[in-house]
Amino acid sequence: MVRYLTELNLNAFVDAAENVPYQQINSDLFPNLDLWVRRDDLIDPVISGNKAYKLIYNLIEARKRGKDTIVTCGGAWSNHIHATAAAGLRFGFKTIGIIRGERVREMSPMLQDAERFGMSLRFVSRSQYRHRHESNFMECVGLCKKMSWFVPEGGANNQGAMGVRLLGKIITKTSPVSFGECWVACGTGVTLGGLITSLPTKTKTVGVAVLRAKSSILKAVEELGRAAGGVAHDSWQLIDNGHQGGYAKNTKSLDAFMKQMDSMTGIGLDHVYTAKVMYSLAKRFGIRMGNGRATHLNRVLLMHSGGLQGRRGFA
Ligand SMILES: *Cc1c(COP(=O)(O)O)cnc(C)c1O
Repeated sequence: MVRYLTELNLNAFVDAAENVPYQQINSDLFPNLDLWVRRDDLIDPVISGNKAYKLIYNLIEARKRGKDTIVTCGGAWSNHIHATAAAGLRFGFKTIGIIRGERVREMSPMLQDAERFGMSLRFVSRSQYRHRHESNFMECVGLCKKMSWFVPEGGANNQGAMGVRLLGKIITKTSPVSFGECWVACGTGVTLGGLITSLPTKTKTVGVAVLRAKSSILKAVEELGRAAGGVAHDSWQLIDNGHQGGYAKNTKSLDAFMKQMDSMTGIGLDHVYTAKVMYSLAKRFGIRMGNGRATHLNRVLLMHSGGLQGRRGFA
């Protein structure tokens, strides 16, 4: 049974995460694969996907330090802003979102949700936003640090990585079969790096970059790998030609593939992240070998990292 995130403590979170279902896919789209999807989009209706994992240790740390406010930043379609606003409402934190660009009259449904969840939005110019990685960013945009816990864009900090490594351990413990590969969408690369350093070495972690950000993803993986005492270079791979032209770029073929997946498997994907992973997987394994029957079935796990609320941008 899927549990929702009702309490802010690690045991409750682990309990929910250990109950996330694995769904086996039987589809002609993947004739050479034994494909499973881990439905982390279902861990909670609003604190969804990998963002739940990147937030959990941040929220626990903020509570421990007596901070009553979570401050974070992102763009108008950020899943991380959405999840942070929802988590603040659920667990009793005030939340402030520093948003790149001007406030427009018709805000994205994501930002409308965030406000409805009680997040206070602060719009900053693109040039101000560029300073988001600097330690005085909050002061720069006129916010006080005292009662606040700052979470960087996308949840990409040490606590964020700890949460992803927790996910890797939970996958190791709960996998119904042993997987040769685990595929995941990459933005910052923290999810990829966290999984590389926590999944069993016999499982190769494959990241699909959803934007042109090869160098920053490789850097994130390298840092997380170094912190974990090094990773074997054959234990992971980054696919950097599956982004369809860039962040949130859609193509007719991606769109058609998504619709086909939807109707054949019932698993919803989003154009920005998970559809690009599934599409890259189909391209890698989808072609029938030889006389139509593969002699060897690869066992692959795709981690569904959520993001379905973003589908409203493509309606
Ligand atoms: C944010 C996000 C990612 C990217 O995760 P990173 O750790 O930044 O690489 C992948 N999938 C979904 C649905 C996301 O919202």
